[in-house]
Amino acid sequence: GTAQIGVTGLAVMGRNLARNFARNGYTVALHNRTASRTRDLVEQFGHEGTFVPAETAEEFVAALERPRRLVVMVKAGAATDAVIDEFAPLLEPGDMIIDGGNAHFADTRRREAALRERGLHFVGTGISGGEEGALNGPSIMPGGSEEAYESLGPMLETISAKAADGTPCCTHIGADGAGHFVKMVHNGIEYADMQLIAEAYDLLRHGAGYEPARIAEVFRGWNAGRLDSYLIEITAEVLAHVDAATGQPLVDVILDQAEQKGTGRWTVQIALDLGVPVSGIAEAVFARSLSGHADLRAVGRGLAGPTPVALPADEAERFASQVEEALYASKVVSYTQGFHQLQAAGAEYGWTLDLGAIAGIWRGGCIIRAAFLDRITAAYAKDAALPSLLADEQFAGELGAAQDAWRTVVATAARLGIPVPGFATALSYYDALRAPRLPAALTQGQRDFFGAHTYHRVDRDGVFHTTWSEDRSEEQQS
Ligand code: NDP
Repeated sequence: GTAQIGVTGLAVMGRNLARNFARNGYTVALHNRTASRTRDLVEQFGHEGTFVPAETAEEFVAALERPRRLVVMVKAGAATDAVIDEFAPLLEPGDMIIDGGNAHFADTRRREAALRERGLHFVGTGISGGEEGALNGPSIMPGGSEEAYESLGPMLETISAKAADGTPCCTHIGADGAGHFVKMVHNGIEYADMQLIAEAYDLLRHGAGYEPARIAEVFRGWNAGRLDSYLIEITAEVLAHVDAATGQPLVDVILDQAEQKGTGRWTVQIALDLGVPVSGIAEAVFARSLSGHADLRAVGRGLAGPTPVALPADEAERFASQVEEALYASKVVSYTQGFHQLQAAGAEYGWTLDLGAIAGIWRGGCIIRAAFLDRITAAYAKDAALPSLLADEQFAGELGAAQDAWRTVVATAARLGIPVPGFATALSYYDALRAPRLPAALTQGQRDFFGAHTYHRVDRDGVFHTTWSEDRSEEQQS
């Protein structure tokens, strides 16, 4: 075979990835279960590069140079297993199957282990940036072996997005499911970012009393500062858009029930298993789920609240800038939590994750791309073993400077009856970390009372229990 890479699964993502490889000078073998997709691609885009279309799995495999690099871009789940089962018997030791779908990392670990036994490399690869990213440069998060990355990495780096400084937004993440794990946490952080932006909008709308067009201007202003990011930029676009049918701001005619495909939920489920408090991501997932409970919200509309009053005009502008500070601080907290989850996963699954490099490859191509990520890279460059992003002097300093505004915003939201689960949980996380003593001591006392679950003391080593139902003396258990 002559093709350096092959793509099977030519729906939007696979087709665009194949074109991206071809536009970069690679010879690309093409395959799809339904052959008409393959033919359509060659007909429409054949002029963009060198494609080798294949109708059967055998032809496809034969079209590839060795070691073979076979990208699978099919529907995540059972379809991925079906495709692996179809191709694996046709491959030879050293060949690589690259799964670019949105697989659950646990599936990737299972598939990698099974294929490794047959001498095949399985490279679970997170790809972010949607259709447009796949074509023009996505952020790419490949897992799998070092050996596979040596052969495949340069090609992936070539087709990836490039950060402002020219660095490819692709790096080897770690063994087996590490790539898909990091992609999952990226999506979780994306949920949190979006929720915080939505709350900022709500505060400007119902706290500051601004109309959507004015809020679009505010976001444009923020986009010129430290919040500069793709999500802030598109927020301004959406808010400025007027619905052609009604002449209303589009945001006012879109049904306010947010949907989700599941990666945010996975992030939280796994965080619960790892024991990592990713409260910002969790609140974002719950906020979407709450918005979708139309029946519950119908009940809720009858509940009492404060009289809705926006702030007086002379306070609104100041409030808007406080919202910017609260948004920034809350964003730092949600990234802190997401990176904590990555760190914990690295320890749990035996991955050596370069957290600074991971922040670096999110600077381009993906949905959470932002200038801000440079600061995370810088924090880990200063100290690769940073226990938390909040241990970084610069982040700690910024949050300290923002805290007055942050508190004002959360307090004002509570007073005006505006829900801010993301801002509030971020501030609570910050305050909980600061607290010299937490009421967890009381929780432990209760657990010991009803379940004899024991407690530790601050002043002595050992495990203790108070005989609550007897004379309430203390017993040392060990
Ligand atoms: P879809 O998820 O809609 O999947 C359609 C493709 O899967 C078609 O090529 C289809 O073949 C193939 N397929 C489905 N079932 C089987 C099967 N049993 N055997 C063989 N092939 C099968 O396509 P997308 O392009 O949207 O996404 C591809 C992957 O990329 C998914 O895992 C998705 O989660 C992921 N992804 C998508 C992003 C996006 O923005 N859309 C972003 C990042 C990742 P056929 O034509 O014969 O039906």
